[in-house]
Amino acid sequence: MAATGGSGTTAPPVCTATPHSALWATFSGKGETEEGRGGHAGAICSAMITPMELALDLAEEAAGAGEAPVGAVIVEGGRVLAAVRNSMRELADPTAHAEMLAIREALRVRGTGRLDGCDLYVTLEPCAMCAGAIAHARLRRVYYAAEDFKAGAVDNGVRLFSQPSCHHAPEVISGPGAERSEALLRRFFAGLR
Ligand SMILES: [Zn+2]
Repeated sequence: MAATGGSGTTAPPVCTATPHSALWATFSGKGETEEGRGGHAGAICSAMITPMELALDLAEEAAGAGEAPVGAVIVEGGRVLAAVRNSMRELADPTAHAEMLAIREALRVRGTGRLDGCDLYVTLEPCAMCAGAIAHARLRRVYYAAEDFKAGAVDNGVRLFSQPSCHHAPEVISGPGAERSEALLRRFFAGLR
């Protein structure tokens, strides 16, 4: 779950050594300030990790919290709108998949009611619920790491974006970060057995 508190009023440079809840606290809300708009916070610069690496770090954080390891990041241009992890257990909410939480957070931050021109990075192929939300939110592009042969709904299962009933199909790029995501998932589910 995104930590939305955000303590300070200044925007320190964000580096990979920052814990990601703190990283998100740095991002969140800063986009609304002058500092955020003109400065470093909320922007992905070359010194920072990629959105998929951030999503993978969040997936790892999820596993540490006993959640299925899935992380999601929504980016508009160079600005991170949302960076969250799976929180189904924590919120006792079966709809609290990382993508759903990321979409809600990005909508809140953006305030436009849609996410046109925004890209989602998620560590696991979205399920039917999340794929539906992605289509409704009109995300431009979806990058996902690992395929989900059981519950995936993009390149597996119902292949939602290919259905005639789907009014908006984002561009889909699969594979970046797949190895690390698969390792996280394997380790997590092996631990449950
Ligand atoms: Zn889902």
